[in-house]
Amino acid sequence: MPLKGIIGQDSAVRALSSMIAKEDINGAYIFTGPGGVGKFSAGIEFAKAINCEKKEDACEECVSCRKINSLNHPDLFIIRKEEGSSFIKIDRIRDIIYQASLKPYEARKKIFIIAEAEDMNEESQNALLKILEEPRENQIFILTTSVVSGILATVFSRCKIVKFNLLSRDKVQEILTSRQGFNEEEAVLFSRMAMGSPGRAIAFKENDYIRERDRMLNDFFLRKRAIFREEVCDDKKYNDLDASLGMLLSWYRDLLVSKFTQDRNIFLNLDRIEEIFSYSARFSAEKIERDIASVMKTINYIRRNINPKMALFNMALELERQ
Ligand SMILES: [Zn+2]
Repeated sequence: MPLKGIIGQDSAVRALSSMIAKEDINGAYIFTGPGGVGKFSAGIEFAKAINCEKKEDACEECVSCRKINSLNHPDLFIIRKEEGSSFIKIDRIRDIIYQASLKPYEARKKIFIIAEAEDMNEESQNALLKILEEPRENQIFILTTSVVSGILATVFSRCKIVKFNLLSRDKVQEILTSRQGFNEEEAVLFSRMAMGSPGRAIAFKENDYIRERDRMLNDFFLRKRAIFREEVCDDKKYNDLDASLGMLLSWYRDLLVSKFTQDRNIFLNLDRIEEIFSYSARFSAEKIERDIASVMKTINYIRRNINPKMALFNMALELERQ
């Protein structure tokens, strides 16, 4: 199968490889789908396949494949928001428009990958639209986004849409071990937590979310009396409160699951599964469902910027209620 470098994503691979086979390559694509499922990596694989000197998918050996792999090809342009900036700067887009006016230096096609394209503001998108409207033979634009509503309809209509999906747990595990250097045990644990997104699994590991989860459990599950909660409800203690609450939610989710089955394949918090089994009998399913609702409500409050400390304190009280 062509585009062998893309793990999973069968329908996107089928669509892209049939375009390569028919030499029916568009000037502009939008890769859409959830965050962290490999849209950007697929853009790189697509770029390799199109420009490979041996014209056989990506040979991984020719100068073109090697330069693209090291993101060091003069005809590969990667555009994304700079760190600390809230959008992609218009100057960057102007630079790209200039580059697009030149012929490729050495590749068959110049490739522009705009990662998280929703980070372009309206002015930038309108500037980009001009080149998308007059595509040249020898260039391809690939915009990736998980926020389709952040792309102007006019831009959208100029691009061929390729959809990416969440991956199966096995595929996530395969990517984590073969591409990301996870050991087997980490890959098993994180692929469960990641719910189909290898990018999420990588972020979980990098940001030490297992420790964050354990802290959440210590503060909100294992502690007993609300009177102690006020000190633990300091939202500033958490790097990413939304994600930490997500971990707490996964705990209650597992507790609820433990009411119905002991099949380990279904659990997320595999490293603490014995504890989950031992706590299972202490809580009724109704109580756990109420707790899940309480954590979800808190996540919604945090997302809507409602006083996080107060939201956490209320959650602590609710979780304690029998
Ligand atoms: Zn090659």
